[in-house]
Amino acid sequence: MQTEKNEIMIKLEKLAYQKSKPFCYHCYKPALSGTCKSCGTDDLMRATEGGVEFGTFWIIEDLIEEHLTPVNVEEEFEESVRQCYDETITVLWMQLDAVTVAKESDPISWRIAMDEWLDQEMSEEQIMEFNSKYYRTSDIDSFLDQELIE
Ligand SMILES: [Zn+2]
Repeated sequence: MQTEKNEIMIKLEKLAYQKSKPFCYHCYKPALSGTCKSCGTDDLMRATEGGVEFGTFWIIEDLIEEHLTPVNVEEEFEESVRQCYDETITVLWMQLDAVTVAKESDPISWRIAMDEWLDQEMSEEQIMEFNSKYYRTSDIDSFLDQELIE
């Protein structure tokens, strides 16, 4: 199970390299060969139109934020509950929407169950977290299929 996520991270890193250029911060100019022609350093940052930083994780976060729609956790959790339980419950003479009743009568229990659902989705690698937002692994996968030059 761990392998798919690692594979995606490796591909995302590759994409981040493809979408950025080596940059010498000291001379403040690109160093496309991988070594700065002016000062000779190979301790280079990566530059995109969005900025200049060391590493690639910030580029990965930018790319995902720019191109993918985050999961609406509340909506998806609710949907998964609706698929597992009867839609309505009978209270006295009333047919009530079970989800609405559950949320209103015990919001804390609802919240805990939602957090557990999210943990489960993440441990099954259905969902990945970037920048405090959640994304479908399958969406990231198809994004990589489109963008990554192998
Ligand atoms: Zn330099």
